Amino acid sequence: ARRKIIAGNWKMNKTPSEAKELVELLKPLVNNPDVDVVYCVPAVDITTVVEAVKGTNVAVGAENISDQDKGAYTGEISGDMLVDAGVKYVIIGHSERRGYYSEDDAFLNRKVKKAFEKGLTPILCCGESLEQRETGVTMDWIRLQIKSDLQGVTAEQAKTMVIAYEPIWAIGTGKTATADQAEEVCKGIRDTIAEIYDTDTAEKIRIQYGGSMNAGNCKELLAKPDIDGGLIGGASLKADFGQIVNYNK
Ligand code: 13P
Repeated sequence: ARRKIIAGNWKMNKTPSEAKELVELLKPLVNNPDVDVVYCVPAVDITTVVEAVKGTNVAVGAENISDQDKGAYTGEISGDMLVDAGVKYVIIGHSERRGYYSEDDAFLNRKVKKAFEKGLTPILCCGESLEQRETGVTMDWIRLQIKSDLQGVTAEQAKTMVIAYEPIWAIGTGKTATADQAEEVCKGIRDTIAEIYDTDTAEKIRIQYGGSMNAGNCKELLAKPDIDGGLIGGASLKADFGQIVNYNK
């Protein structure tokens, strides 16, 4: 059976001192040995959060990675820097980066490969717009995203990674996908992985749902057979995150 993985995506929230406070607030609440927990935090918060989670089973993730190794790339942060700072996971291809910063699949594919090369675990995001859902092209679109973003990634690598299904219309809107809608696409993603690789890889890869997941709806979503966890935005910034982590208690 796949181990559940619950990750917070803090996005552009929390200064280093606020980050330390949040980790301390969550410490007594985030204590479920049955799940992997990750805090994906702003780059400038990484050192503080790595220090603050010492002695807990929380891992730290970044929200972005450069597709390049090092050198004259002003403003970028390399995989080596993240690894040396204590980062284990990295979010790649969030819809906010695809949309606001025009990151396309070819670029994201280079980031995924760079993350693996450096020993980081990618959390690769995919998801459809409301218009795509309404016109019935959701699964075709997501299949295209996954296939492009995973070009050249081996089965052995894919087995270890995380894919997050985040319907754009559900992000920050309070409009969660129903558990059935989320399960349908997560199952579709697993079938796509089986098509690209094999059933063993599809059985091992972990697929999260993200989009207005909260303490109230997490239980039903996480009960679905193909939903292996959550990528949580707003609710990861408060005590509710502890309830999500403890969804099975
Ligand atoms: P919300 O949980 O705030 O809807 O954000 C989801 C998300 O984008 C996580 O990456």
